[in-house]
Amino acid sequence: MGSLEGGRKCYDKLICRYRWAATPYYLSLIDWSDPNDPIRRQCIPDPKEITFYLDGSEDDPLAEERHMPVPHLIHRYGDRALLLATGICATYCRHCNRKRFWAGRPRVINQRALGGIIRYLSNHPGIREVIVSGGDPLTMGSAHIDRVLSALRTVKHLEVIRIGSRVPVVMPMRITKGLCRILARHRPLWLNTHFNHPREVTKEAESACDMLQRHGIPVSNQTVLLKGINDDSEILGDLFCRLQAIMVRPYYLFHCDAVRGTDHFRTDLYKGIRIMKTLLGNIGGLCLPTLVIDLPGGGGKVPLNPDYLTGIDGDEAVFKNHEGRTIRYKSPWGADCPG
Ligand code: SF4
Repeated sequence: MGSLEGGRKCYDKLICRYRWAATPYYLSLIDWSDPNDPIRRQCIPDPKEITFYLDGSEDDPLAEERHMPVPHLIHRYGDRALLLATGICATYCRHCNRKRFWAGRPRVINQRALGGIIRYLSNHPGIREVIVSGGDPLTMGSAHIDRVLSALRTVKHLEVIRIGSRVPVVMPMRITKGLCRILARHRPLWLNTHFNHPREVTKEAESACDMLQRHGIPVSNQTVLLKGINDDSEILGDLFCRLQAIMVRPYYLFHCDAVRGTDHFRTDLYKGIRIMKTLLGNIGGLCLPTLVIDLPGGGGKVPLNPDYLTGIDGDEAVFKNHEGRTIRYKSPWGADCPG
């Protein structure tokens, strides 16, 4: 009884710190007989979120708060900005890198905040793309989504809108023809989603992505490398090939950020590089995302590439291929020199 009571208190504390919600659909994908089921681990709270910390993890390692010139807008890169439309998600992913927003009441962007953002964007002609994110923007009502996108389209120099949403994965039935028609009105508009495991590529998810694509909305995917969930070349190879087969482009594979409350999902830096090296030799280029790490303090994303060029020997470049074979290449050195 004592340990049950202790367990309940631990979970109460955990849920107070990091809220919990998951869609019935996403829960239905879990194999409950497996305590390490990859879907379960992504959505069911784990006491490690409040007990297991690695050196250097922070609530906001990417310094997003320092790069918010106006409320709800992060501006870290010259040509693009990220709009935090809502704090609500359909399912709260336990590895989320914005867990710091989960305490307190979730906020949805209002007209006043939107006005401040539009003024800021209008005064920054270098911004050509806005990523509408959150939280999950597709949890907002369709009319509100339309309002936000229409406001963005009043910024004349804005070329592209990108929506970051996990709804096709965790609540694919939200992708309706009505919603797609609204999104299509604001093209060029891309949707970037977040599949992490091949078991998430269901018939329902495929239909949602297909409906978006048939309305002229390209769908790409970013995956987070998660210990015990997908840190395996077979699992990721399977995922990326399935995504290509449903016409979703694998775009980024993210090294897991050093976010407090997610340390139990982090792998060492070389894990992803080793996986990419295996995949590079085994699956086609259109299935391959770029492995990136988002550097702390707002340093931005940089690729983590396996190194194939091992040296220069006289007029030859020396490569080691994916099988470990050394191959020499005679480079036309100086071919690009003027004159
Ligand atoms: S849907 Fe995105 S923002 Fe929401 S919890 Fe998952 S990763 Fe975080």
